Amino acid sequence: MGHTECPDCGAALQAIKLTDATERWLDEGSLRVDQKYSAEDAKSGFGGITGIHPEGNLYGRLCPKCGRILLYAVPMN
Ligand SMILES: [Zn+2]
Repeated sequence: MGHTECPDCGAALQAIKLTDATERWLDEGSLRVDQKYSAEDAKSGFGGITGIHPEGNLYGRLCPKCGRILLYAVPMN
């Protein structure tokens, strides 16, 4: 995974961790989660008990110069 430079301005990208703001009883963004993605038409199984099957994980890169954030998918296999 050679994503090291911003495609817009060429600055060195920083690895970032995406935060989750859904746990409102904690400080916003206090949970750092491994974000996942799924197929657009993915449905949760067994009436929602098992949740949506994730296709893989996401990781992010931030350009400190222009602020662009790039997301990359890492399929689970
Ligand atoms: Zn940039």
